[in-house]
Amino acid sequence: MNIARFVPPHRVLMGPGPSDVSPRVLQALGQPTIGHLDPYFIGMMDEIKTLLQYAFQTQNPFTIAISAPGSAGMEACFVNLIEPGETVIVCRNGVFGDRMRENVERCGGLCIMVDDEWGAPVSPEKLEQALKENPQASIVAFVHAETSTGVLSDAKTLAELAQKYNCLSIVDAVTSLGGVPLLVDEWGLDAVYSGSQKCLSCVPGLSPVTFSSRALEKMQNRTSKVQSWFLDQSLILGYWTGETQRSYHHTAPVNSLYALHESLLLLKDEGIERVWQRHRDMHLLLKNKLEAIGIKFLVDASCRLPQLNAVAVPEGLHDPDVRKALLKEYNLEIGAGLGILAGKAWRIGLMGYSARKENVLLCASALKEVCSAPFRKTAE
Ligand SMILES: *Cc1c(COP(=O)(O)O)cnc(C)c1O
Repeated sequence: MNIARFVPPHRVLMGPGPSDVSPRVLQALGQPTIGHLDPYFIGMMDEIKTLLQYAFQTQNPFTIAISAPGSAGMEACFVNLIEPGETVIVCRNGVFGDRMRENVERCGGLCIMVDDEWGAPVSPEKLEQALKENPQASIVAFVHAETSTGVLSDAKTLAELAQKYNCLSIVDAVTSLGGVPLLVDEWGLDAVYSGSQKCLSCVPGLSPVTFSSRALEKMQNRTSKVQSWFLDQSLILGYWTGETQRSYHHTAPVNSLYALHESLLLLKDEGIERVWQRHRDMHLLLKNKLEAIGIKFLVDASCRLPQLNAVAVPEGLHDPDVRKALLKEYNLEIGAGLGILAGKAWRIGLMGYSARKENVLLCASALKEVCSAPFRKTAE
């Protein structure tokens, strides 16, 4: 056995996540580990709650970070809000909408699918039709920012429809939080989950979630036990908010939470509106640079995500070779196409700390170089 210290290369991360982590966040991560019931640590958890409320633009008291990645936040929303036999309307316009369906079925819920094309936003008209046809439905689930296609859906309108038909909303905000406007209270969203490694630019492995009072009420009135012990939010509540005595539930990922605290502080210090604007600005700069070298966007400008740019692999280029060259020659990671877009699209992330001018310029010039190297053309 000849195993030495692991030293990762310095990459520039411009894929669908994880994004570049700022040096300040990495520094926070390396601070001494303390006990997760230490008074200092509990004080920091309270600050994380306040900072998360700012990021989500909510006053929801139950706003915390689940100790696991975005997929666990997703699962937490579904297992806590759905009881066997309930009807759930799931909007699907990419990979992550389909994962919602998986979750509903595993909770014993009955799924009504509202399908839209990959590359298009969720259609409010189709959702309203489904709500009319299924008055027994109690929940509407949709993805705000579909990372598989680079599409933004109109969360405000979709949530309004859910409310109009007396449904709670479950919203995937994994890629939208900290990248585009997400106004949990103003839009009346009920259960919203996100991830630490996308536009928050923290290390992977944490899932911010927030629940409205209506969602909490539904959880409290359950007749069946939540099938997941770890994700049962009624047990987590005592851990994150125990006003009297914080009880042990699981060992918090102490150092990762230092990192989350720091990344949320960076967000607050820059100001959330300015952060949204920076994502828009960097997206427009990238768009101009890429279009100048003949790379085309796949998504209509009206619903493009600034933080996740889906572009077509230019004709005659071998997708894996290009991405391999970017990684090897430029230490630059961009994302491949997922599902039906595999081999046909690149997903260029401009998330959080990755949304910087130097990254945009590097990406555009590296792609220009690599794509024009004649030996990479597949046609010859
Ligand atoms: C990344 C992502 C997830 C899953 O998050 P993980 O942290 O990878 O588990 C869920 N939904 C969307 C829209 C995502 O982009």
